[in-house]
Amino acid sequence: MDKKLIGVDLGGTTTKFAILTVEGDIQQRWSIDTNILDEGAHIIPDIIESINHHLGLYDMSADQFAGIGMGSPGTVDRQLGTVIGAYNLNWKTLQQAKKEIEAGTGIQFAIDNDANVAALGERWKGAGENDDNVAFVTLGTGVGGGIIADGHLLHGTAGAAGEIGHVTVDPTGYVCTCGKKGCLETVASATGVVRVARDMAEEYAGTSQLKQILDDGNEISSKITFDLAKQGDPLAKMVVDKVAKYLGIALGNVGNTLNPAFIVIGGGVSAAGDFLLDQVQAYFNEYTFPQVRATTKLKLAALGNVAGVIGAASLALEFV
Ligand SMILES: [Zn+2]
Repeated sequence: MDKKLIGVDLGGTTTKFAILTVEGDIQQRWSIDTNILDEGAHIIPDIIESINHHLGLYDMSADQFAGIGMGSPGTVDRQLGTVIGAYNLNWKTLQQAKKEIEAGTGIQFAIDNDANVAALGERWKGAGENDDNVAFVTLGTGVGGGIIADGHLLHGTAGAAGEIGHVTVDPTGYVCTCGKKGCLETVASATGVVRVARDMAEEYAGTSQLKQILDDGNEISSKITFDLAKQGDPLAKMVVDKVAKYLGIALGNVGNTLNPAFIVIGGGVSAAGDFLLDQVQAYFNEYTFPQVRATTKLKLAALGNVAGVIGAASLALEFV
């Protein structure tokens, strides 16, 4: 009988789990709240307990599994299976994820960072069509990325490859959380879009519902901005155009450098759908050279929030 895989997508609020076949089909799926109290000391024990509990529920045993793969925030050491500096988990000190989870479940364990596993998931079972060359960018609270080139997930010399969020799109732009100026993340994350909208509203003299909301002192979101742009609000349209241009610059240069078959756009901001994609595509065409323009395709992510567990499980294919 074919062995199964377990995928774990560890996040700051929830931890998602799935049992998959080696073909990547999800057979069971569940999630638990991530308990980040006590410097995240409960997180790994909770993961072990939840896996063992569910194997019991499904009348399965450890020897039926090839491995567990996990995506985690923070800085991951893939060889040692450790994580450090995952601040949304309150993990400030080194966490022995591999050692503890293997001891606690009796199943082999592999780990990578959360953006990389989402990229692997979209590549394997989503918009990446299992191609050997796929770049993935996620537009959420921050902007993350992962790159599969010639069939391999890129890590770089210090594990920082694929950080598309820190591609410079405006050398004179906003200061990023990384300390650098003008990163894509400062303008294309959910908070980045709001920041662009606020600044453009200050200079905008015409009539606009978006400007009205801001002038009234109300909160806006990237979703409100995109919705108003879809309805034709002139300021919101300008904001979306600017965000699309920055995405076109960043993704154009990803294309010019790597020539992937697909650049997949996911995350909350990508819920704006084809309305955003079409505008990014126009700038992407402007900023790519002909061979890339003709062969690298921009696509919206297809898997939603299961990309993480699917990609995480794919890490365990190395044990099959
Ligand atoms: Zn940055």
